[in-house]
Amino acid sequence: KMKRGSCYLLFHDEMKTRIERKRVIEDDLFSGDFMKKGFHCVLQPQLDGTNGRLIGIETLSRWNHPELGALSPYEFIPIAEESGKIREMTIHLLNLVFSEGKRWTDKYGGFPRLAVNVTSHLLDDKAFYGTVMRMLRKWKIPPDRFEIEITEWKEILNSDLVLSNLRKCRSQGISVAIDDFGTGFSGLSYLTNFPVDKIKIDRFFVAGIGMISKSEAILKSIVSLAEGLGCELIAEGVETEEQLQFLLEIGCRGIQGYYFDAPLPPQQFEEKYMNTSLS
Ligand code: C2E
Ligand code: CA
Ligand code: CA
Ligand code: CA
Repeated sequence: KMKRGSCYLLFHDEMKTRIERKRVIEDDLFSGDFMKKGFHCVLQPQLDGTNGRLIGIETLSRWNHPELGALSPYEFIPIAEESGKIREMTIHLLNLVFSEGKRWTDKYGGFPRLAVNVTSHLLDDKAFYGTVMRMLRKWKIPPDRFEIEITEWKEILNSDLVLSNLRKCRSQGISVAIDDFGTGFSGLSYLTNFPVDKIKIDRFFVAGIGMISKSEAILKSIVSLAEGLGCELIAEGVETEEQLQFLLEIGCRGIQGYYFDAPLPPQQFEEKYMNTSLS
């Protein structure tokens, strides 16, 4: 009886803190305070595994919250979506990365494509295309230096608005990537309907290299799928030499993961990658 009682209490406490945390996060989102309170971006390089050349950059959100400590995007992105503040947060994030891009252009004459994660809510919005183009112009970023990464396909498959937003973006040279490919929505029909430039292989399959032969078989078929579709390919979550070698062997050259680098603060990213390689 004692045991059950304490379990209940523990559960209760955990729920309470989760709800409290959520309330604090929501408040800061609503007041717009996140922009002053520790929200920032980090950048992870995407490299050509055959020669180590920088081919792209993924932008990831971070939030060092003054009261709650370092928040994971797995915690605050869903709250931002739910509370309708994801738009404001993404625009703020775009301003942060585009300002880096602008600085890099002035300093180095250019930079590789910058990818940003975009949720389905934003794409299903009439204003999306106009907002993105306005921001690109504001920071003088050529549209072909920008990439949209999309995860939740099942939520947008039936939306003409999403389709038209993506078409318009692509007509300007903006690239569209499928994030977490192979997990979540399992159908492939959207590959025929949706304009896609790049496939990002989910790290679940990469983690199976050398351990789960079925993962290796799936990786090989994703490589030929991408070839058949004429899509670029990136494997994410590459952590070991063995994983890298396997991927290169089967023809996947695009590599992202801790093996090369974790996401880095912009300053550190610039020092390490921008001085040396330009594409
Ligand atoms: P994602 O888009 O799949 O991003 C990749 C995640 O894997 C990142 O986690 C990254 O830090 C992590 N990662 C990179 N290399 C490795 C590796 O070698 N091994 C392992 N185990 N992990 C690796 P992070 O930064 O915690 O982001 C989590 C998710 O939150 C992202 O998954 C993305 O879906 C979402 N997210 C992050 N920032 C944003 C944002 O600005 N907007 C939106 N809508 N979503 C975001
Ligand atoms: Ca991503
Ligand atoms: Ca991913
Ligand atoms: Ca993910």
